[in-house]
Amino acid sequence: MKIVKRIFKFIVIIIGVLLISIAIVILVDKQSTNYLKVRNNKSADNNSFLITNVNVIPMNQDTILVDKMVYVKAGIIQNIADNIDIKGVEIIDAKNKYLTPGLIDMHVHIWDRHELGLYLSNGVTAVRNLWGMPMHLRLKEDINNDEIISPMFFTTGPKLTGPEFIGDDNLQLTNPTEAKEKVISYKKRGYDFIKTYYGLTEDIFDAVVEQAKIYNMDIIAHPSQKVPYSYHFNPQIKSIEHAEEIIQQPLNYTLDTLKLQEVINDFEKSKHSSFSPTLTVYNNIYQMLIDDNILESEQLKFMNPLIKKVDSKAQFERWHTTKLRDSSIVKTIKKQHDFHLKIIKKLHKAGVTFICGTDAGIGVTIPGFSIHQELAFYKEAGLSNYEVLKTATINASKTHSIMNKMGTIEVGKIANLILIDNNPLSDLSALQNPTTVFIKGRKLNRKTLDSYEKQAKNRNNLIASAVRYLENLIIEK
Ligand SMILES: [Zn+2]
Repeated sequence: MKIVKRIFKFIVIIIGVLLISIAIVILVDKQSTNYLKVRNNKSADNNSFLITNVNVIPMNQDTILVDKMVYVKAGIIQNIADNIDIKGVEIIDAKNKYLTPGLIDMHVHIWDRHELGLYLSNGVTAVRNLWGMPMHLRLKEDINNDEIISPMFFTTGPKLTGPEFIGDDNLQLTNPTEAKEKVISYKKRGYDFIKTYYGLTEDIFDAVVEQAKIYNMDIIAHPSQKVPYSYHFNPQIKSIEHAEEIIQQPLNYTLDTLKLQEVINDFEKSKHSSFSPTLTVYNNIYQMLIDDNILESEQLKFMNPLIKKVDSKAQFERWHTTKLRDSSIVKTIKKQHDFHLKIIKKLHKAGVTFICGTDAGIGVTIPGFSIHQELAFYKEAGLSNYEVLKTATINASKTHSIMNKMGTIEVGKIANLILIDNNPLSDLSALQNPTTVFIKGRKLNRKTLDSYEKQAKNRNNLIASAVRYLENLIIEK
């Protein structure tokens, strides 16, 4: 009896020590992002000001409003005019500079709070997180309570998949009743959107759509291969993800332009779904194949260490093993990327609404920085600079009603803005390294933004990230 008691005591102590260690790790990690706390960003305190002499790119029409004044009060745009007579507010002289809406990345995966600073530093003032976990609900709460400086944050719940096992990170639904219960539970817990994923069967998918409609939750679809591609053109599905899925599913891994035309025709008929191509994450396969040292690159130092250690490394090794077996893979991947550009061009001609999404946080796709790459691809596909900029501003805000207070510079909109030295309608690279980013009217200058990058570089939070991931596996199953 005594032995049993002793063993029991020992186990209790071990569990206790483990729990305390986990709590310490999480606490230390949270402390390490204190630099984003609103109270530690005193210079950003003032969210009322008057910007003068500025060239405004409003993005609700293809124009530049030359030499204007913009009055922001308590984080909201109050007035845009040639002359605004207001006393007692901070004046920001923006002579020869351009003001655009902050950028919106509609497909990201956030792993820690340092990434929020990286998005801001790159002019991204809102993100749509497409793989929701309990940590994202806590993050959202802190952001909405205005405790931390961050892009505005929207998140789906965990990915909904069908009965077939396709990875422990997916929530496997086995029947329609379970599907409905999940939608109800995600709504109650505060997730913004439903994400449907690979492998959802029609009966389960129908149940998700039905319940999401009742609960007024938009669906974001990574297309399921268990239903026809055209199934996804449902009014409840507000956005369809990934150009590569068009090739993998309706085109059945070919680059068949006739089959593509059928897909384009389906898109053309349905005006309620936006399309998020995520070209960067696919092109990064090619980048991994041609750069043997990509894992040691400067850019990868901005990646979450857990993802770098697990996902970036696994993807790199997988593609390099493939290349050793068959070197033609390099050409095949490049060819498919080029075909994606062709798809974008055709979809654009057919009037499809694009929303800029990078899939940052996966593989070697870096948070924040990747958005400029993604925009450059749309340009390469044939969109005008104005059309490209729409994908990361007004198109995003029109996709979901909960996002429509952003995306343009108009009276009544939230002052999520970026101030830049050159005209992005002449050259999109002007959007990189903004001199000032305004988030809900809080002003972040270049020096502050650079310091966010510095803090995020080579961060050391692998264990804390792993704990949060494990928490997700335990709670969401
Ligand atoms: Zn993704």
